[in-house]
Amino acid sequence: MTSVHQLLHDRFGFSHFRGVQEQVVARALEGHHTLAVMPTGAGKSLCYQLPALARHGTAIVISPLIALMQDQVRSAESFGINAAALTSASEDPRAIRDALRDGKLDLLYVAPERATTEGFSRLLQEADIALFAIDEAHCVSEWGHDFRPDYRLLLPLLDQHREVPRLALTATADKRTRADILVQLGIGADGLIVAGFDRPNIRYHVRPRDGAARQVGALMKDQPGPGIVYVPSRNAAEKLAEQLDAPGRRVLPYHAGLEPKVRSRNQSAFVASEEMVMAATIAFGMGIDKPDVRFVAHAGVSKSIEAYYQETGRAGRDGDPAEAWLFWGADDFARARRRIETEVEPERRPQERERLNMLAAFVEAATCRRAILLRHFGEEPPERCGNCDNCLEPPATIDVTTVAQKLLSA
Ligand code: ADP
Ligand code: MG
Repeated sequence: MTSVHQLLHDRFGFSHFRGVQEQVVARALEGHHTLAVMPTGAGKSLCYQLPALARHGTAIVISPLIALMQDQVRSAESFGINAAALTSASEDPRAIRDALRDGKLDLLYVAPERATTEGFSRLLQEADIALFAIDEAHCVSEWGHDFRPDYRLLLPLLDQHREVPRLALTATADKRTRADILVQLGIGADGLIVAGFDRPNIRYHVRPRDGAARQVGALMKDQPGPGIVYVPSRNAAEKLAEQLDAPGRRVLPYHAGLEPKVRSRNQSAFVASEEMVMAATIAFGMGIDKPDVRFVAHAGVSKSIEAYYQETGRAGRDGDPAEAWLFWGADDFARARRRIETEVEPERRPQERERLNMLAAFVEAATCRRAILLRHFGEEPPERCGNCDNCLEPPATIDVTTVAQKLLSA
């Protein structure tokens, strides 16, 4: 039998497991259910790809976005893994089903909407299943930031194959979301594995917004490498790119409204570049593997602390120093509140309000930013990290008693 280390080396070309990968892989190989909470870039895919090769049968991977699946299939194929995605965009779904029945696939990607159909459940009855991997598992929880109701319907399917190990994976689950995922996917509390969330090479800065284009321009002068600037709208992406684009320092827009050709051209340019800046909406980033991004700036707050952490986590994946800058305004919060009260279903509003409040507390904090982020993810960090704005330049604290005395004596 080939050992997992040999597989890791021979098939993936990696010399070591990273962090908790080995532990997660071992659990899958021993047939245990697991929820692995690992930061973006930690290498979650390998945690199911490797068992898919090592175990008999096909690993069924539940994944929320077709665009993401196609990337994953390509990446798996580059490691010589037989992978397919069964989607509305599949050219020959029948051939994929046959390959599954014949045991010719290592990995099959499928969206939750399809996985939970009667037809798919019948198909699985005829297949040899090595593993269920549930990627982006926070989608199963109402407390998660991307709730997808169909994830909630997965449990009956999983329970039809009780002996098959389940591996739920996510980068963005706070304590409450984790507990919910465990219940919703029928994973025991002893199956929770959490990787360290700290990204010590990222320096966090938060500033009130005061002319975003000017602030980003100044940041670009200090930071010569590739960067991403997240803006709240397509329009803002276009505008910022227009304002800051210069010979020798390209700034290109990226958002879902661009023609697919332009979008993928801008993305390729960014991935290849050593100094380009992308002015982007949050449509940009998922599945992009660029290790040398030197800064991520936000010209407006993210949807939640989880989202902010994930977006800033695209900086400095190579481990070299990188910066995260957040330029926020009171209008960001006003807009988000309006959205919650008008566009969110009433029963989900309390969660959304609370998430927004946590974000407000983060931007207004006078204490260590990293500690707030890490506590949010259930860690117990030191009080000061020494590598965020509040640690490096402690904000001037107002002496409340003196102020009160002045007011009283006035
Ligand atoms: P995640 O889904 O956790 O964000 P990915 O699975 O996309 O991360 O992996 C991120 C990158 O890390 C990929 O390029 C992957 O090939 C690489 N990677 C994964 N595991 C290892 C490892 N043990 N050693 C080196 N590189 C790895
Ligand atoms: Mg992933």
